[in-house]
Amino acid sequence: MQLSPAPVAGLGDGVRAVFTDRHGGVSQPPFESLNLGAGAGDSAQCVAANRELLAAACGLRPADIAWMRQVHGTDVRYVGREHCDGPAQPADASFTDVPGVAVAVLAADCLPVLLADPVARIVGAAHAGREGMLAGVVPALVSAMRSAGADPARMRAITGPGICGGCYEVPAEMRDRAAAAVPASSCATRAGQPGIDIRAGVHAQLAALGVTRVAADSRCTKESAELFSHRRDSRTGRFAGLAWLVP
Ligand SMILES: [Zn+2]
Repeated sequence: MQLSPAPVAGLGDGVRAVFTDRHGGVSQPPFESLNLGAGAGDSAQCVAANRELLAAACGLRPADIAWMRQVHGTDVRYVGREHCDGPAQPADASFTDVPGVAVAVLAADCLPVLLADPVARIVGAAHAGREGMLAGVVPALVSAMRSAGADPARMRAITGPGICGGCYEVPAEMRDRAAAAVPASSCATRAGQPGIDIRAGVHAQLAALGVTRVAADSRCTKESAELFSHRRDSRTGRFAGLAWLVP
């Protein structure tokens, strides 16, 4: 199947966003085929080739895409043109005001979140798994973008595919900790077990900060064969969400 990253509307004029799926790359099982994650155990050559294919499909160069070494934290990194090359730095959120530089987030059940203020011309990306959501990585990104001139009232967000609350079963004490920190994230799974709804948690966090224009690609990774899912497949690849300002 062809590499055809789906353009996502919703971040406003002059902003492009895409989410990839697992098709169109060169990686072998269990990373077949468009694995974009460097830390998943795939060959570095295949990941580099996949990233080149993605860049070409987006009309970008590989060096235009700023990847992160995601560590389930809340550190936010500003990306300038000079930061794109070289090894990815540890961070779970990044933002840029440089047209043509794409911020990128990797996921395979965790929630990829893209943000933009199309007026201030700032775009951001965050990796919100359970830990990052509870620790506030998305609020940290909103805050950093605000410090750079973005206004939450103008900001738009898209939450990408992630594991749904109906599938994401956790121990009861973990659900209770989530309920205490971000009440909207506490749920029951379809099987009636304690669960965490990361997307609901992130949407509540955005609303609390005044970011009300929030769209979602609400596909569940575990239930969607075209997406990578760590819970479903354990050893697997990572898909990506990218956002950039049109030069
Ligand atoms: Zn699900």
